Amino acid sequence: MSVQIAATYDVQTIRADFPILKRRVDGNPLVYLDNAATSQKPRQVIDALVQYYEQSNANVHRGLHTLAEEATEAYETARAKVAHFIGAEPESLVFTRNTTEAINLVAYAWGLANLREGDLIVLSEMEHHSNIVPWQLVAQRTGAKLHYVPFTSEGELDMEALESLLRQEPKLVAITHVSNVLGTVNPVQEITRKAHAVGAKVLVDGAQAVPHKLVNVTQIDCDFYAFSGHKMLAPTGIGALYARQELLEQMPPFMGGGSMIRKVTHEFSTWADVPTKFEAGTPNIADAVAFGVAVDYLQRVGMEAIQQHEQSLTEEALRLLEAEEDIVIYGPRDARKRCGLVSFNFKHVHPHDVAQILDKRGIAIRAGHHCCQIIMRRLDVTATARASFYLYNTLEEVRAFWKALDDVRKVFGKYGGR
Ligand code: PMP
Repeated sequence: MSVQIAATYDVQTIRADFPILKRRVDGNPLVYLDNAATSQKPRQVIDALVQYYEQSNANVHRGLHTLAEEATEAYETARAKVAHFIGAEPESLVFTRNTTEAINLVAYAWGLANLREGDLIVLSEMEHHSNIVPWQLVAQRTGAKLHYVPFTSEGELDMEALESLLRQEPKLVAITHVSNVLGTVNPVQEITRKAHAVGAKVLVDGAQAVPHKLVNVTQIDCDFYAFSGHKMLAPTGIGALYARQELLEQMPPFMGGGSMIRKVTHEFSTWADVPTKFEAGTPNIADAVAFGVAVDYLQRVGMEAIQQHEQSLTEEALRLLEAEEDIVIYGPRDARKRCGLVSFNFKHVHPHDVAQILDKRGIAIRAGHHCCQIIMRRLDVTATARASFYLYNTLEEVRAFWKALDDVRKVFGKYGGR
């Protein structure tokens, strides 16, 4: 049975908003299936950047002139839009460069102040390096210990193993909402409830969730939630950390400098209100403003519609790849348990070769360890190929990708054949 896209979802109108999708690569139309790495940007977001620099550019928070007021208003409006998009209040949303910086902020500001020798930090084996390395660095400084929840052969978090680690009363559970390799959607609300019951704080890495599904941090009830603008139509260099306001108030600053202070004396300083306390120096104003416009765009299309659309694309990709005996698929087989990406390998060809051959057809996929070397070790591979979808991809593109895999067989021969 072949998959269909909901009749009401107008993917061609959406595509028309993305100038880069008109590009050709090696004479072929671009088929961009590397959205988990970064998304393309609609005209509205690009225009917002130009308009900001042409009309309102000034530094925020300090000026008394018209442009400074306009820039401040635009920056704070963007904060409110991004916060509301994830069901939070603006006071709880700190602008960062990306997910990585948001997690580092928590590791250094909260972690160094709260973790002691022997304290337990629970991570999972499906974390991106950006939710592992900061905790390793903080563990080295504090003497805290890291424990990893494994995932099952189906690519799902081993909840029994998690519960047994929770019985050891960790101080923090830091877990990804959606795996960027397996595509798995983790039950972060249930995990938060169970972690809170033993007194642990919960950080969720939402880099692959917020762009693709409706996320409500108040409902999840987590303490920290990190995500990146560039994976959800916004420019690079802007991301966000949601944190409970009382935690932001208790935490010491991450970086010191201009803007984040209330008073500076020879000996000491006091801090501005949150979230400004965590935004030292001139922020990334233009990209934050464009982040607000990206969120407007996603809301106009509708996150539920986007999720459904991506699910149809994922189902089709899984259906086509599953029928191939020379291909291994990683992660849950049920598209409803995933967000829109599929990692796979040919049994006899290195994924870098696969990506290069597909590129000759204008098809952009990613191959590598995807910043998840622990997953690679668990899967017993050094790398995988990954096709990842977004709101502007079509079923035709998924099929073009699948057809192009025949080029790989032409170059490397058939699996098991001569
Ligand atoms: N976590 C996950 C699950 C990711 O997929 C990524 C990006 N690949 C990151 C964190 C890091 O995001 P950034 O590079 O934007 O900080």
